[in-house]
Amino acid sequence: MAWDFETDPEFQQELDWIDAFIREEIEPLDFVIEHPYQITDPIRAEIIPPLQAKVKERGLWACHLGPELGGPGYGQVKLALMNEMLGRARCAPIVFGAQAPDSGNSEILAHYGTEAQKARWLEPLLANEIVSAFSMTEPQGGADPKVFRTSAVRDGDDWILNGEKWFTSNARYASLLIVMAVTNPDASAYRQQSMFLVPIDTPGVELVRNVGLGNEPEGEGAHAYMRYTDVRVPGDALLGPQGGAFEVAQTRLGGGRVHHAMRTLGLVQRSLDMMAERALSRSTQGEELSKKQLVQQMIADSWLDLETYRLLVMRTAWRIDKYQDYLKVRGDISAVKAMMPRVLHDVATRALQIHGSLGVSNEMPFVEYIVQSHHMGLADGPTEVHKITLARQVLREYEATAGLFPTTHLPELREKAREKYADVLKKHGQPVR
Ligand SMILES: Cc1cc2nc3c(=O)[nH]c(=O)nc-3n(C[C@H](O)[C@H](O)[C@H](O)COP(=O)(O)OP(=O)(O)OC[C@H]3O[C@@H](n4cnc5c(N)ncnc54)[C@H](O)[C@@H]3O)c2cc1C
Repeated sequence: MAWDFETDPEFQQELDWIDAFIREEIEPLDFVIEHPYQITDPIRAEIIPPLQAKVKERGLWACHLGPELGGPGYGQVKLALMNEMLGRARCAPIVFGAQAPDSGNSEILAHYGTEAQKARWLEPLLANEIVSAFSMTEPQGGADPKVFRTSAVRDGDDWILNGEKWFTSNARYASLLIVMAVTNPDASAYRQQSMFLVPIDTPGVELVRNVGLGNEPEGEGAHAYMRYTDVRVPGDALLGPQGGAFEVAQTRLGGGRVHHAMRTLGLVQRSLDMMAERALSRSTQGEELSKKQLVQQMIADSWLDLETYRLLVMRTAWRIDKYQDYLKVRGDISAVKAMMPRVLHDVATRALQIHGSLGVSNEMPFVEYIVQSHHMGLADGPTEVHKITLARQVLREYEATAGLFPTTHLPELREKAREKYADVLKKHGQPVR
């Protein structure tokens, strides 16, 4: 019997330290630092590095990485417990060296980079001395990478990139862009594209505009519309094999999707906490909101959403650690990815509703959480696509029946059962058929 829902006491001590550190030192930063990815911001430069130093001292820096890259190699179960706490505060992943998309970008650099590429990009990225962006989605389509048109053509030893990309998050703060481009148009659909390391200051790289989410002011967001016009990069800018972009992207997205799910749990828990506090504190028609059965239903449904989702995330983390094979857990990862937007959306919406007008105002975070839930339903692939992946994995466990009726057709089952127990039925004067 190996079912176990307990955290070992030694790691619990680390979690307690993380919890207190985030509450006391990092949550207040969300009101002081506007753009945590903007390394040149003097306020950020003064506050964040000393906090990062404390995390490093404690041995909790970049816990998604193995020891060969300077992380403790904790595995996904421990990461899940940690990341849920990190999810509570915008600046927390940066203070712990675990922020997306740099975490995924550093994973592919570690996996596919040459020694020279690692020395130039991976080391400063891991140290959070620079920020990176992943430039894959195009204006004409994101869910189907087979429609991408950005091209990279050989010119002597160099490559020349041309094309447009959409929603390249954090490009405005980045030194490094990882760009996906068609290099082998005649190859089969999944072997046509390659990944390139493009420094942001390369001539021809143009940030057309910064796109924001929801109510963010126009032009002020962090998701860039990018244009690449005759961008010349050297031959060694190719990351991974030529034609290998799909494989590289999958390496990056597997871990990233689960880490988003772990952090999202933090926001769902916060929503439930706020909802419960408000329900106990506010009265209407002579009694607390918490006494109203419809409000109780919202609290119960939210708890059920949170706990079932937490179990699914933890089980997926456990399966990743057990099998060490992302292909084997593809369905699990798609499941947590597909469920994440609904859980955050529903719990945040109930929390908003219980807070009334205050809930929908910009003095509470619920509208931001709801927009975030839609972010989670699109970034790293839309929910529909993940449900398709999940369904395909589920269907692999089954096979079609040869007969006209299902194997569970009751008349047939009844007949077989009666045949099996014919002797007993006869003995008691019951018909066999
Ligand atoms: C906040 C945020 C950050 C992002 N950051 C990045 C980034 O850093 N780099 C990057 O390259 N991209 C990024 N993206 C883009 C993201 O990967 C795409 O939004 C996503 O892949 C969907 O592409 P699309 O937006 O073009 O939608 P489309 O491809 O146009 O799809 C639109 C809708 O069609 C439906 N749909 C699509 N495919 C199917 C299907 N097979 N079956 C049924 N329905 C389907 C879904 O409802 C889907 O939402 C980000 C997106 C968001 C929202």
